[in-house]
Amino acid sequence: MGTLRIILWDQLTHSLPILVQAKSDDIIFFCECREQMNYIPHHPKKLAFILSSMRHFANELSQSGFQVHYVQYDNDPQHGELTQEIENAILKFKPSLVAYTEPSEFHIQEKLNVFASQNKKIKFQIFPDNRFLCSKELFCEWAKGKKQLRMEYFYRMMRVKYNILLNEDKTPIGGKWNYDIENRKSPPKSLSSPPRKSHKKDEITKKVIETVKNNFKNNFGDLEPFYFAIDRQQALEEAHQFINEILSKFGDYQDVMIRNEAYLYHSLLSAYINVGLLLPLELCLMAQKAYQQDQVPLNCAEGFIRQILGWREYVRGIYWLMMPEYTSKNYLNAQRPLPWSYWGGDTNMGCIKEVVKQTKAHAYSHHIQRLMVTGNFALLAGFDPLAVHQWYLSVYADAFDWVELPNTLGMALYGDGGLLASKPYCASGKYIKRMSNFCKGCYYNPEELIGEKACPYNALYWYFLITHRDKLSKNQRMRVIYQSLNRFSDEKKNQIVNHAQSILHKLEEGDPL
Ligand SMILES: Cc1cc2nc3c(=O)[nH]c(=O)nc-3n(C[C@H](O)[C@H](O)[C@H](O)COP(=O)(O)OP(=O)(O)OC[C@H]3O[C@@H](n4cnc5c(N)ncnc54)[C@H](O)[C@@H]3O)c2cc1C
Ligand code: SF4
Repeated sequence: MGTLRIILWDQLTHSLPILVQAKSDDIIFFCECREQMNYIPHHPKKLAFILSSMRHFANELSQSGFQVHYVQYDNDPQHGELTQEIENAILKFKPSLVAYTEPSEFHIQEKLNVFASQNKKIKFQIFPDNRFLCSKELFCEWAKGKKQLRMEYFYRMMRVKYNILLNEDKTPIGGKWNYDIENRKSPPKSLSSPPRKSHKKDEITKKVIETVKNNFKNNFGDLEPFYFAIDRQQALEEAHQFINEILSKFGDYQDVMIRNEAYLYHSLLSAYINVGLLLPLELCLMAQKAYQQDQVPLNCAEGFIRQILGWREYVRGIYWLMMPEYTSKNYLNAQRPLPWSYWGGDTNMGCIKEVVKQTKAHAYSHHIQRLMVTGNFALLAGFDPLAVHQWYLSVYADAFDWVELPNTLGMALYGDGGLLASKPYCASGKYIKRMSNFCKGCYYNPEELIGEKACPYNALYWYFLITHRDKLSKNQRMRVIYQSLNRFSDEKKNQIVNHAQSILHKLEEGDPL
């Protein structure tokens, strides 16, 4: 018989070479892999989204004439283990070849490597994942010999490679590579999210929801209402809506945070891109076209393209360059456990409460909320990077190890000592006050540094700088901040240290603040 073609849960793309080359006597193998679903407490919406998307994708393949072998999730420890199910399929179908596409996550690659080495009589073929725009090899080549791996230069290389937003002489359209500076507007008095598509549940999705309800009821997060796109057609509808109706304001309000408005002008496309329902390059080309047709300003098109062609590919490159050691990096020696407030426990901190509430409802919060609210607080309070990593990996629908880990450990927590981020993304409560309306009505006051009602970010921010002076003060990009700190009197510094230590002590005692 033909080839057993393994499709992993984030490889739901018809144009993958492994599927393009499939023949009628091949078997297309899917497994709702039990250990993948149980190794962390995934948000129920994330599980329902992935399972429903897998089942729809497998159905599409069946309908176009392929033979599909599909292992559905079953809470029985005897079923659903990936390599065991592959072995069962090999025994059943006796394929002449077993093929798979390079996994996006390190732990799955390890599993398949071990399986292949234990089954030397079986012939394996590994396909490249051509959805990513920078191969692992190209990233290594780019990184080779560089002291610093700055995203900005990587991004410029990618713009040239794909000829995106370039003049004929390969200079950037508009004269600048990056319009980030125009993308930092504070929130205007009234700003709300434009209406978004909500997709009706069909029988497949309803069945998946029952499975998730029955088996993952203790996981953090609201399963319903469930409104995600679950196939390419629906995901494309969302992409077109974003490009046509929302992208024109994406740049301007990219960093803004508003209570009860989870989405604002963000695309909400990450989960669809990450499982393969949408392709990164097609989205960049759509944004470029919208700019060329005068539908959107340059700062918006460039900002969106930079996130996908730049950041997304760059974090993937860093991940594969650094794994498996990357997971255990802890440059700032952060050890504190994650407080209960991250899992929905009550807290007086208005911003944490709001971001966790949005996360629980939608399995989503936008980048600045992830980075400058939950990430920033975890950095300043010194929460254990592994615990923070597991939280992010669990609670967001778009969270897969390869993209979540570098963002959390490298960008938010500075755990890799500056490989990914040129300086720590640390900020006091004043930043959150400027970019959001979270502080209005909060128990704490963002203007106060010391005292019962002082915003906890404030004293923790200066304490963080004091504590890590040896590691951070030589960084040129931290020079101005350290100059400010140096002007503080000893008395003020002592007050900060005492107040920050009392906050940290409370956290260690399990007080969510
Ligand atoms: C601590 C932390 C954890 C994160 N974890 C994840 C994760 O698990 N999965 C994930 O896809 N993104 C992650 N990000 C990156 C980013 O926050 C999300 O991609 C973005 O919020 C998704 O929402 P969106 O689709 O509306 O994005 P938009 O703001 O509309 O951006 C457009 C697209 O650009 C890409 N993108 C933007 N920023 C990044 C980035 N830093 N890294 C990779 N891709 C990016 C995404 O594909 C996104 O859909 C994380 C960021 C932080 C700070
Ligand atoms: S005052 Fe501080 S804790 Fe309260 S919402 Fe503002 S930044 Fe967050």
